[in-house]
Amino acid sequence: MIIYKTPEEIELMREAALVVSKTLGEVAKEVKPGVTPLQLDKIAETCIRDQGAIPGFLGLYDFPNTLCTSVNEQVVHGIPTNTPLEEGDIISVDCGAILNEFYGDHAYTFEVGEVDPEIRKLLEVTKECLELGISETKVGNRISDIGFAIQQHAEKHGYGVVRELVGHGIGKTMHEDPQVPNYGRRGRGKKIKNGLTIAIEPMINMGTERVNQLSDNWTIVTADGKPSAHFEHDVAVVDGHAIKLSTFDYIYEALGIKK
Ligand code: MG
Ligand code: MG
Repeated sequence: MIIYKTPEEIELMREAALVVSKTLGEVAKEVKPGVTPLQLDKIAETCIRDQGAIPGFLGLYDFPNTLCTSVNEQVVHGIPTNTPLEEGDIISVDCGAILNEFYGDHAYTFEVGEVDPEIRKLLEVTKECLELGISETKVGNRISDIGFAIQQHAEKHGYGVVRELVGHGIGKTMHEDPQVPNYGRRGRGKKIKNGLTIAIEPMINMGTERVNQLSDNWTIVTADGKPSAHFEHDVAVVDGHAIKLSTFDYIYEALGIKK
């Protein structure tokens, strides 16, 4: 059952999402060769708690950390390790927080130092997929129109769209209805209505769409070992259109990226 939110609840959710956006901005400042994912995890936990919020992933389904950190061929759900990042790596950082009883859930794939142009392209296209999915999130459309737009764009570039993991409704629980796949045909699934709050999160692989899970029972990796990218925003449908509750602005500021 989809839980539609009131405008007041959406404002509370925006505050929760922004806790995560600011946290990813702090993480962005520290992503560089030699830094370990566990160090990033500590930075994130401190930043979330300093904002009066609670890490949203820590303990959720028994996950052991504040961040999911997924390096190179890892798609999502990587557990932060003590292995230093290396020049040319990419690291997908997914972060959740609870504020005002609502969850924020938000992810960005960072470049570590100088990254191969082919991999930069994967990141750019995945970010474009996210924007296209958001622009399809409007009254008059159905849930599958989001995935249709994402899949078309990714496959146009020869990339694989992960099927096993999907976006989701978000609110007072991290994962609510509906599921929001990153693939699909037009015009399927629930109609999009005002008050819908969802996390849209394309997971796009440079090669095959197929993935495996490591023996830690968390980390998802590409079946062919090629890199994968993941970007995620929380959005709400207001006055017929999606508005972003989270923002990459803090990340862009930290990285000196002009929009
Ligand atoms: Mg997430
Ligand atoms: Mg999510």
